[in-house]
Amino acid sequence: MVEERIEKAANDLANSRHAVALTGAGISTESGIPDFRGPNGIWTKYPEMERKAYQIYGIFLNDPVAYWKDRLENPFLHKFFTVEPNPGHQALAELEEAGIIQAVLTQNIDNLHQRAGSRNVMEYHGNINKLRCISCSSRYNRDDYDLEKMKEENTLPPLCPGCGHPLKTDVVYFQEPIPQDVAYQSYLEAQKCDVMLICGTSANVYPFASLPTTARSRPGVTIIEINAEPTPLTTNNISDYIIQGYTGEILPRLSEKVMKKLSAKE
Ligand code: NAD
Repeated sequence: MVEERIEKAANDLANSRHAVALTGAGISTESGIPDFRGPNGIWTKYPEMERKAYQIYGIFLNDPVAYWKDRLENPFLHKFFTVEPNPGHQALAELEEAGIIQAVLTQNIDNLHQRAGSRNVMEYHGNINKLRCISCSSRYNRDDYDLEKMKEENTLPPLCPGCGHPLKTDVVYFQEPIPQDVAYQSYLEAQKCDVMLICGTSANVYPFASLPTTARSRPGVTIIEINAEPTPLTTNNISDYIIQGYTGEILPRLSEKVMKKLSAKE
């Protein structure tokens, strides 16, 4: 069944005009970053972290210094800076290089798609390696700020060099609007695609989870899921079919089949 569906997906991708990938935390679990809601997810194991996630944007708005002190003490933060892309990220980069995947729309903040070689990446929920000004929308490299030193010297929060407003991480929190540039570009991609390859997301977080519905509203679009478990996209027939399994195993097999089909066409 899985093999047949990989074959079907390879045909759909090889014959596509504008394929896009949508990714979530699941594609990075095999790199060692836990997801939120899977069986070993951070929120599954530590429900108090989910409660905190709903409060943190308000903390930033009310008290940016308290926000930064809290962020710098987050025990999971170091994970994001010590991991490597896995074969799932690499397969998507290969498919982009081959001219099949036109864009990766990701909820992930871990930068692993870019490190694997993907170039056209839309980071719907931001990037942990960047800081962003919510007043003028400018983004800056996190490495340009010695945040630990600022904490020691009591000079937090970092301020926007452009407008002087306190900076937060580029990561988008609950209650925070999605930055307009990335929301618009992602919507356009969902409007344009003829194949959407959804990888490792529970499809529970909106508005990102509405992008497949946007694509579904047009005739002739094929929506494929690669997920460890079925999602609301599967049960509500938003996706055409699911390849149930791990992205780090399925995506390389899929990419290999697509490459063979492309060579056969030449
Ligand atoms: P989620 O935790 O809600 O769901 C992940 C889904 O992927 C689950 O259904 C799980 O069964 C599945 N999964 C886990 N490992 C898999 C694998 N190897 N192959 C295929 N499927 C796998 O994650 P979400 O839907 O992305 O939403 C959570 C939010 O958490 C996002 O907004 C994202 O910004 C944030 N987040 C990001 C990271 C990251 O950047 N790596 C990590 C955790 C959370």
